[in-house]
Amino acid sequence: MYYPEIFKGMWFTFRHMFKKSVTVEYPEKKEIMSSEFRGRPVLVAEEGKERCVACGLCARACPPFAISMQAAETSDVKERYPAVFEIDMLRCIYCGFCEEVCPEEAIVMSKEYDFNFQHRADAIHGKDRLLVEATQLKDRLDFLRKKRNPNFGKIFNFLPSNNRHSLRNRA
Ligand code: SF4
Ligand code: SF4
Repeated sequence: MYYPEIFKGMWFTFRHMFKKSVTVEYPEKKEIMSSEFRGRPVLVAEEGKERCVACGLCARACPPFAISMQAAETSDVKERYPAVFEIDMLRCIYCGFCEEVCPEEAIVMSKEYDFNFQHRADAIHGKDRLLVEATQLKDRLDFLRKKRNPNFGKIFNFLPSNNRHSLRNRA
């Protein structure tokens, strides 16, 4: 009675022996993630300087309170920058809310998923680990631009002169 089912199972296994394997032998081989992937959140830098204006929106939006920062003044046109910016990676749930609310495209989800730590203190990523040049994040920034609400800015009558901080029109 069981023989037909056994042969069916064996036939199914046999057919799959010739199909392309979908298993990635991590960590020897690493998957290259697509631009849709939400990995470790990072701060976007331009020539070594963060785009962030320390508005604090990302910290407010972060559900597990993983982000903390200390704003300071600068003589640059943006006037404010985060003297301290930290993300506690033990708290982060990779939701991407920080990226969504940021008005400056200053924090984005990178493709990085392969990191670890042995002590709790190592899980707190400061600016030294968070700053990544915009050129290295091009895929994600392009993806975000493509997915941006096409009606953004059409409902309100923005005055460009009122918007001298914003770096939105980078494209
Ligand atoms: S991805 Fe989500 S949890 Fe992680 S820092 Fe951003 S808002 Fe917070
Ligand atoms: S929302 Fe953007 S600009 Fe504002 S503090 Fe966060 S990263 Fe900086």
